[in-house]
Amino acid sequence: MSLWCEHAWLGGDDVAARVLIELDGERIASVSTGVDPPGDAERLLGVVIPGFANAHSHAFQRALRGRTQRARGSFWSWREQMYALAGSLDPDQMLALARAVYGEMALAGVTLVGEFHYLHHGPDGRPYEDPNAMGVVLLRAAAEVGVRITLLDACYLHGGAGVEATGAQRRFRDRDVDAWATRVDALTGPVGAAIHSVRAVDPSSAAVVAEWAAGRGAPLHAHVSEQPAENEQCVAAYGVTPTALLDGAGAVSERFTAVHATHVTADDRALLGGACCCLCPTTERDLADGIGPARALVDAGARLALGSDSHAIIDPFEEARAVELDERLASGVRGQHGAAELLGAATAGGYLSLGRADGGVIRAGALADVVAVRTDGVRLAGAPDAQLLDALVFAGAASDVRDVIVGGRFVVRDGRHLSLDVQRELAASIKAVLP
Ligand SMILES: [Zn+2]
Repeated sequence: MSLWCEHAWLGGDDVAARVLIELDGERIASVSTGVDPPGDAERLLGVVIPGFANAHSHAFQRALRGRTQRARGSFWSWREQMYALAGSLDPDQMLALARAVYGEMALAGVTLVGEFHYLHHGPDGRPYEDPNAMGVVLLRAAAEVGVRITLLDACYLHGGAGVEATGAQRRFRDRDVDAWATRVDALTGPVGAAIHSVRAVDPSSAAVVAEWAAGRGAPLHAHVSEQPAENEQCVAAYGVTPTALLDGAGAVSERFTAVHATHVTADDRALLGGACCCLCPTTERDLADGIGPARALVDAGARLALGSDSHAIIDPFEEARAVELDERLASGVRGQHGAAELLGAATAGGYLSLGRADGGVIRAGALADVVAVRTDGVRLAGAPDAQLLDALVFAGAASDVRDVIVGGRFVVRDGRHLSLDVQRELAASIKAVLP
């Protein structure tokens, strides 16, 4: 198969015109520009970009959309609402929800999702007959939807430093870190590791998770400094910041992704140079977390990835521009991150964070995961070719995504998922858990 693209972003500040992408199975065989469309090529109008990587997802939290917006509160009051939902889900409900949510992601141009998975066990905290029952349905959901997944299986042991996990947290908790490792070793598929947070994993257990990931060359993620209270509790319990604790446990490396990194110190940022930081701006806004120091992190040598986390909305364009626009509000300075850098974070940055260095770019040898975005809709009509990339990143939307190709196969065509009725599945799966 070959794809002829009216325009395509091949990196840099501009888009190329009349681009032919030839495929070989699930990979790109060659890319050439300025060519006429061969008769047998699929024609993709608008601008073609690499598929988005949603590097931080908790699929089930999508059910909370619209239900947690009303009351005054904070991350911590939202967390109680999330725990109430987490307390009730079973694997069949999780499968239905995840299918629908990954379907919504596919429609938004997401071709790879990083599922940060911590809802492992039954409602009373006892493991299911298959202790990976929940993880298995998440892997299956992605396969059924046709998107790639890296299942980041999160170790969760405590309710806080020296505090026992209670309530819904019992569903997250493995008996100890060895039980976590034994369980995760039984999973087959694209699996990475996660340290839920320094609240939930003590330093010596974090070191075991880090060793597990290092031994397998697997990606390792952790929630880091989303809230000032997390820093205060960590310093009080261990005398160091969450980043310093994780670094001391051997967790911080080029395979490591710090999720959020909102409230990090200059010393933390230096430690994160060479690692990845996954910002989740629409969730961080929604939860009143704060604005992550993206520019300072990049200046310290960190790479960026993006995630929709709680799925308050699912729109990779909005996540990408929010990195720049939120920082404008905080700093009073425009133009700290260009469109190419932002789009790179949403694509190649996320692929790398999820252990797929071979994707998120349009070049020979890369995974054939690409997205065609219409430029004739109301949001992008009139954008000059010379500034198409800026228009795309600063004004494009998930609803402009027309075609999505994963591994050389169409998953979405003309704005419709080829095998799922995504809207219907969303409504039904959410109603089943929150009537
Ligand atoms: Zn999260």
